[in-house]
Amino acid sequence: MPLTDSPAKPHDHSLCIEDALGQARLICEQRNVRLTAIREQVLGLIWQSHKPIGAYDLLEQLAKTHHAAKPPTIYRALEFLQDNGLIHKIESQNAFLGCAHVGGHHHGQFLICTICGTAQEIDEKIVSSALENASQAHGFRIQSFVIEIKGLCATCQDL
Ligand SMILES: [Zn+2]
Ligand SMILES: [Zn+2]
Ligand SMILES: [Zn+2]
Repeated sequence: MPLTDSPAKPHDHSLCIEDALGQARLICEQRNVRLTAIREQVLGLIWQSHKPIGAYDLLEQLAKTHHAAKPPTIYRALEFLQDNGLIHKIESQNAFLGCAHVGGHHHGQFLICTICGTAQEIDEKIVSSALENASQAHGFRIQSFVIEIKGLCATCQDL
């Protein structure tokens, strides 16, 4: 789990990246799936900040070191990372964010700052189970949901 509780506040972000990549390696090893160099690199690019990043921006950055990188390269890597719960898609921005709670099945819940763009993942079990129960009561089985909460992060409120 990343060391910072408030990603918008100044912190040693290199530790977040190190931590995220370390956990990703561990999870892929446990699942016996291959975190190839390109997948790991894409994950590292996504973890460059706590702001969601789009596929096009990722491709642009990846192309600096992998001149042969094409959109399918990125899309395949993103699909792998999503399938293995290492990243989330922020639907409203069509962008991707590193998962802050890897290893457990959960639906995404995000606090998204409308000023600086930082997105913080929260995992309120009580919210998820309330929605699951309510859906079940209607005979509906949830496949996935993402909750995106817009507002101001602690840092931007002080500006
Ligand atoms: Zn960080
Ligand atoms: Zn997550
Ligand atoms: Zn902010």
